[in-house]
Amino acid sequence: MSVRKNIIVSVFVFVAPPGTAWAQCDANAHFAIVVHGGALSKLVEDNGRLASMKAALENARKSLAKGAAALDTVEAVVARFEDSGLFNAGRGANANAGGFVETDASIMDGRDLDAGAVASMTGVKNPVKAARLVMEKSPHVLMVGDRGEAFVATLGAETAEPGYFIKNAQPDAQAKPHGTVGAVALDRCGHIAAATSTGGYGAKIPGRVGDSPIVGAGVFADDSVGGFSATGHGEFFIRFSAARDAADRMRYAAQSLEDATKAVVQGTLAGHGGEGALIGLDAKANVAMIWNSAGLFRGYATDAEAANVAVYEGPTASKPR
Ligand code: ASP
Repeated sequence: MSVRKNIIVSVFVFVAPPGTAWAQCDANAHFAIVVHGGALSKLVEDNGRLASMKAALENARKSLAKGAAALDTVEAVVARFEDSGLFNAGRGANANAGGFVETDASIMDGRDLDAGAVASMTGVKNPVKAARLVMEKSPHVLMVGDRGEAFVATLGAETAEPGYFIKNAQPDAQAKPHGTVGAVALDRCGHIAAATSTGGYGAKIPGRVGDSPIVGAGVFADDSVGGFSATGHGEFFIRFSAARDAADRMRYAAQSLEDATKAVVQGTLAGHGGEGALIGLDAKANVAMIWNSAGLFRGYATDAEAANVAVYEGPTASKPR
């Protein structure tokens, strides 16, 4: 299945095979990408994250314009953030209470709701790439802990020495969850993909897993509705199936992307004390970025709008289509 999908997506202009619901690619179709670099519970200084996000968005915008697949785009953007060491993901992931890094990540393909995820990884260089390997090279969705890590290595996930992860060397007991990363993209074939990656809460109990690798909580993508990536207090996002709830509101209650995202983040989650944010886009390439925390590292780009990044003041949505 996955091999077949990849072959089809690599051809930019095609007609969907009979019997599939896949959209036809169109060199003039709208596209969009939206990213986050973590929700903030208090005001913090930008440490280069905004510039990193802007560069990633500009790059993604160029490749989406040329027909890049949403799935490849979200993986590449999140992997870039993981490698940068600037975010609480991959190389820069927070250390847990045991003083070592445990990372979680997920990726979801809106064509058929295929998904892959990893949790509590200690030596995987790019958790988002490991998540994609789980999705495409195994019959499973979620692999966890030491045994999951050994398995993803057999699939080809690259490993890194403990010293590669910055916080392994400098555990910070006060570190807060700031800096989880996520990306959602819509490509010119009408496909939506989403990915999320995190080190979780700083000083979390070893073995604790948040929402980032949980399908329907920290990530969701469905071509016929939209896609989402979350950041914030993961336990709440799991309990309230935050990403899936936003998609369901659009599908079953005909809410707009912005209304659905606001209802989940500023209604349900805020009402129960769950701090954080959801970013998302719909099948028409509208983008929303909604938070109930002090701020949100965020940004987007579309075929009509150049890369735009912000933390506090600034856009919460793209220009309506
Ligand atoms: N949601 C992540 C978690 O709970 C943390 C974050 O997004 O800041 O693990």
